[in-house]
Amino acid sequence: MVGFEIINRKNLAEGIVEMDVHAPRVACSARPGQFVIVMACEECERIPLTLVDWSCREGWIRLVFQEVGVSTYKLGMMDVGERLYHVAGPIGNPTHIDKFGTVAIVAGGVAIAAAYPIARAFKEAGNIVVSFIGARNSRLLIYRDRIAKISDEVHISTDDGSEGFKGFVTQLLEKRLVDGFKPGLVWVVGPAPMMRSCSTVTKRFGVKTIASLNPIMVCGMGMCGACRVRIKNEIRFTCVDGPEFDAWDVDWDELIQRLSAYREEESYALKLFLESRKTKVGR
Ligand code: FAD
Ligand code: MG
Repeated sequence: MVGFEIINRKNLAEGIVEMDVHAPRVACSARPGQFVIVMACEECERIPLTLVDWSCREGWIRLVFQEVGVSTYKLGMMDVGERLYHVAGPIGNPTHIDKFGTVAIVAGGVAIAAAYPIARAFKEAGNIVVSFIGARNSRLLIYRDRIAKISDEVHISTDDGSEGFKGFVTQLLEKRLVDGFKPGLVWVVGPAPMMRSCSTVTKRFGVKTIASLNPIMVCGMGMCGACRVRIKNEIRFTCVDGPEFDAWDVDWDELIQRLSAYREEESYALKLFLESRKTKVGR
């Protein structure tokens, strides 16, 4: 049968969905830090999503995504038993897992789930894992318990102060660094502006930092060039050269600017999509 069956689906928070998909060949070669390119339907966009977990024995992969536009809304509307048109992967270079002593994992928003397999792998490799997780409010702090299970320490921040430190997760990291915290490595994932400020902070303290980048990506095979980023003034493709790069080498301003290149078209498409969904529901 064509496609990849959805075998589990759960709302983790408002607008954040966890989905397990039957994809045995992907599951059996997946490594932490890799991702897949998903097409919900035949005419649907290709969108990259991180491999959050997987089981080779049971043949499934786990994706966690936030509904932000047409493709993720469409995906979020699919249910157990339905099939994704295509799942390509695993794509990207796996995270370089080594013994660094103490590794600080810094993650914001939906990306907390993407940080989970990496934090787990660093822990399994014998590191002390100190996790810093942040979200807009406490309801959006997904994967908190799972992160806590595989971390030696967890530090929480929320923008509105509904849980933990009131402010950004990078401010929380900065506070700890000021207090003398000296990790061997910082690994960061989240919205690009958050990763940029993390990079600025860690550069000041001289702590090597790896960032998992999230540019607009289409083919996932190094051909289309949509996911190009400037690293140390050279063009690299996030899909085949990344997705992780030394955070200090990234041209963050260009990445942030390119992420909003189609914002007008995206919000227009979303408006039309939500209106058509309302009409269908109303019938
Ligand atoms: P749109 O309305 O089309 O776009 C909303 C915003 O998302 C845009 O302004 C743009 O900044 C970004 N975006 C749009 N199209 C793409 C695209 N093709 N590729 C990347 N970004 C795009 N999101 C998750 O929620 N969970 C994940 O695990 C996850 N992993 C990712 C891993 C990688 C390697 C990359 C590059 C991105 C990842 N993303 C993840 C981001 C996710 O792909 C986008 O949120 C999604 O493509 C948005 O599509 P849309 O049509 O719903 O929204
Ligand atoms: Mg889109």
